[in-house]
Amino acid sequence: GASAAAAAAAPAGPLLAARQLLPDAVQAVSSIGQALAPDLAADSALSGRAKLTAVLAVDDFYFGALYAELTRDGSGASEPAARLGGCVGMLDPASFFAASHPAGFVRAATEGAVSASRASSSRAAAADGTFSNAEAWAAGGGWTGRAVAAHVALLAASLSSAAKPAAPNPLYELWRLRWAEAATLLHGGGLASAAQYAKARPAGRAARDKEPPAPPLVRRWRRGEREWPCWLLAFAVPSAEALAAVSELGLPVVEMGGGVGYWAALLRRRGVAVECFDSAPTEAGGKGGKGGESGNTFHGECPPWGPVQRGSSALLASRRFRRHALLLCYPPPRAPMAAECLAAFCGDTVVHVGEWLGDTGSAAFEAALAEGWELTRRLPLPCWGDTAEDLTIWRRRGGGVPRGGGAAADHPVLRCDSCGKAGSLQPATVRDKPGLLRRCRYCRLACYCSAACARRGDAEHKKCHAVRMIGAPPPADFGGPEYHTCCV
Ligand SMILES: [Zn+2]
Ligand SMILES: [Zn+2]
Ligand SMILES: [Zn+2]
Repeated sequence: GASAAAAAAAPAGPLLAARQLLPDAVQAVSSIGQALAPDLAADSALSGRAKLTAVLAVDDFYFGALYAELTRDGSGASEPAARLGGCVGMLDPASFFAASHPAGFVRAATEGAVSASRASSSRAAAADGTFSNAEAWAAGGGWTGRAVAAHVALLAASLSSAAKPAAPNPLYELWRLRWAEAATLLHGGGLASAAQYAKARPAGRAARDKEPPAPPLVRRWRRGEREWPCWLLAFAVPSAEALAAVSELGLPVVEMGGGVGYWAALLRRRGVAVECFDSAPTEAGGKGGKGGESGNTFHGECPPWGPVQRGSSALLASRRFRRHALLLCYPPPRAPMAAECLAAFCGDTVVHVGEWLGDTGSAAFEAALAEGWELTRRLPLPCWGDTAEDLTIWRRRGGGVPRGGGAAADHPVLRCDSCGKAGSLQPATVRDKPGLLRRCRYCRLACYCSAACARRGDAEHKKCHAVRMIGAPPPADFGGPEYHTCCV
């Protein structure tokens, strides 16, 4: 994963501070976490706010200590499996999380959400989680409903003990555990209630948010929830379905902007041949104590999960990648990187992980996809509370004939959730004038062409907010500041 603007780039401040920690402190933090568990139980006397504040402090200390250990001179764990675990005498993040929260809370939170969503079962509940745009709208459902159904399906699958993952995927585990934490601490603690959200309503219009409007504690929790996992692992969470979709292509993969190589490592485990490149690869064991810096803005000195070579977009023109699929995972926002990779690439298949006219890549990249590539598959991904990425697969258009005689106007992915009307490739201006499609600023997912379509989508939109712990109801005023124009 290369980047996200929503996550503060470069963990420099806290990471440098973390390096001062003594290795002994690393041992201590696990016991502090475990001592906290009883106070997080539903019947504890602590207020929701106090619980959340304690969790944030302990989690931050835990991850800071883990980082210090991973980048300490001579810690040198080169085995990815050992990297986040016992080699340093610390619990891995998922085990730490499980040990520092009351027993059974994940199951309780998940069961609640799954049964609630089944009760309000709708057309989207039938989705298998994998579908193209055309299939989605032919079946009468927009993307929001599909994404919510996929989210609920992942939670439901996690309740079945038969569905234990064949291969470890610590980032997915963290996503699931933290979702349950949000359900109990944010939702259960009343910190993400409609009343709290009412106080956090956006005062003015904006064409783009750094992060979605939310109460201050929710914003703090969300940053804490995803920053460390992003730095240590990847900016987007690979689900088993997403990894399967890439391996089913039956092609070797070349990944550009691969970060610490987490997606690449998981794909290799599935037998996919992956060449992973980054413009600033990090090194095993870290370089912190040697005064060296990887210069990697998005992962600091976090050690790689497997081989990551130094390289950038120009490499993709090499004929040896002609039969590869290009993987771009969370390309940096408002930067030329994604468009440069697409322009240079000589193969016929692209896999993209990111948001649309959102916090990854660029409008120029999306225009180039519309022009020369055909969308063949779109899959929801497990998103964090403040992100809205998906995975798409693209085939190069044959015969060198660009669509529409050279100037593609329709956005290849963005559509009205209710009627399927296509968006455009023209992003909105700062003034947030009315445009083709307006998107909800709270969830960044629900997207409509008109007030009537927004009303028609209300039921799915409500479920979307519920599953993402957004206390605000779907905004009633389609022209107001709680929506913004994503394309004109
Ligand atoms: Zn936690
Ligand atoms: Zn519409
Ligand atoms: Zn929304």
